[in-house]
Amino acid sequence: MRDVSFDTLAVHQSIKNKNHFTSKATPIYQTSSFSFKNLYELESYFEGETPYLYTRYGNPNTDELGAAVAALEGADAGAAASSGMSAILAGILAVAKNGDHIVACDDLYGGTYHLLDAELKNFGINVTFVSFANEQEIRDAICDHTKLLYTESITNPFLRAENIQMLVNLAKEFNIATMVDNTFATPYVLQPYKDGVDLVVHSATKYLGGHSDVSAGVIVGSEDLMQSVCQKIISLGANLSPFEAWLTCRGIKTLALRMEKQNKNAQFIADELKQNAYVQKVYFPEKVSKEGNGAIVTIELSSQCDVHTFFASLGWIKIVPSLGGVETSVSYPLGTSHRTLPPEAQEKLGINARVIRISIGIENPKEILNQLITAIETSLN
Ligand SMILES: *Cc1c(COP(=O)(O)O)cnc(C)c1O
Repeated sequence: MRDVSFDTLAVHQSIKNKNHFTSKATPIYQTSSFSFKNLYELESYFEGETPYLYTRYGNPNTDELGAAVAALEGADAGAAASSGMSAILAGILAVAKNGDHIVACDDLYGGTYHLLDAELKNFGINVTFVSFANEQEIRDAICDHTKLLYTESITNPFLRAENIQMLVNLAKEFNIATMVDNTFATPYVLQPYKDGVDLVVHSATKYLGGHSDVSAGVIVGSEDLMQSVCQKIISLGANLSPFEAWLTCRGIKTLALRMEKQNKNAQFIADELKQNAYVQKVYFPEKVSKEGNGAIVTIELSSQCDVHTFFASLGWIKIVPSLGGVETSVSYPLGTSHRTLPPEAQEKLGINARVIRISIGIENPKEILNQLITAIETSLN
């Protein structure tokens, strides 16, 4: 382009090489849209022969993320979304519409509880919350309009490992769909799609990304169902940005390494804290899978401990209202994730001022333990 002026050159300087110089890492396709040489090429997009048109409709980086998680979960197809919440919303709206009903577990992530309890009403979708520990309670809640059973594979913050097979069988009996949030377990520990769950959703903000530097969601399922989920993501504008998708894919490359270490560390911390006289309860699931039991440990401090002092005495362990990063962090369910729950619901679940959720990282396990024990001992009245 030597025969054009500076003005024209300035806007047309981008690299024309489509081979990307055989870059080992996937390039970031930080583009809002894709260009076409002629109208035949444009037409070929609508015939399904050219993959990309406009980033909200699809982008190589978000596709790479959806496909990566689908492969790890053993599902046919996957899609990225702007957050865990938008992936959950897109999944729900793909199976439930105005007039439909959902039966959901009563021990859910606070944001999901609020979406199901408050927002879905405005779409004309009603939700009944029951304890999923009890099959009869779920059966009793199912009605003619029920379209979906919704839960988390490991619940938050009390880490009950859900009986997925029971849910799948129940859903088959009533011909309704199942959707499971697999954020806490990750596909390293559990793969609910392989057990027959229809849609599996992740807050990739947590373990999939793994480095606390991205907000993202992913949803996987069958080819058919994922077509409607993708349409929802497009229509709701819930697409993920290419850069965030790229960061999440980068995180996933070390998922197995991180989860192996974090699961082992968490098992060690849970076992040790069970021996501690000032820890009244340790919530940590058992026998979730042969790969481990996840990397979250929830504890209830004894009444001799001052909770404010505990949180202020944690040294390099930060207070973070999230989980799943490589650094150990603590969160306060009563003050953050479960803050919006009505007091009766908090009490029923067992959430009180002394409940602390610990997201175990990849540090030296003895040093994590020492830091926690120092904080507990400092907090004694
Ligand atoms: C964080 C979280 C969500 C919400 O995900 P965002 O990425 O924050 O939108 C949903 N479910 C679980 C279990 C979570 O931990």
